[in-house]
Amino acid sequence: MKQLFLAIDSTGYPTCWLSWQEAVTQEVLGKVSYGFGDFEFTFRGGGNRRTGQNSSVTLKSILVLNGRNRAARQHSAIPLSNQSLFERDRYTCAYCGAVQPRGLTRDHIVPISRGGSDSWLNVCAACRTCNTRKGARLLEELGWELLYLPYAPNHHEGLLLQNRRILCDQMELLKPMLPKHSRLVT
Ligand SMILES: [Zn+2]
Repeated sequence: MKQLFLAIDSTGYPTCWLSWQEAVTQEVLGKVSYGFGDFEFTFRGGGNRRTGQNSSVTLKSILVLNGRNRAARQHSAIPLSNQSLFERDRYTCAYCGAVQPRGLTRDHIVPISRGGSDSWLNVCAACRTCNTRKGARLLEELGWELLYLPYAPNHHEGLLLQNRRILCDQMELLKPMLPKHSRLVT
């Protein structure tokens, strides 16, 4: 099963995704207060030797875990990967606007060789043609402009970027928490 469970803390703050194994473990440990959502998954375990009954655990797609997850609140740095970058930029070249599901590159707006960093605010999706044309030059030198501005995804956008199989009820919960400038949901 590849679907992930969305864990939220007792204050309603989405903290992380759980694999089904992790979700079952949390349930068995008594850490799940309750679950909600439109989807329900049942996992059957082995039989109990004493009672002869088979164990089973049924979990909803969104799980409220006991307590407040401070660690998740502090953890705000979203790892920069090409996949996440292209999703942030909606698979659109920042220079010519070409939409390409494949074959995009990570362009450093200020090239690394000119002192630019490999960080969310200095990278954008670019098609190969634009990236090659731009080379190690600055936008001012080329007279180019960005079609959209780079931004660093926040924690909730990070959750969207980490899971490619988000269920619609999970999406509904996360959507209102995205910043207005987010390009992840339109
Ligand atoms: Zn381009």
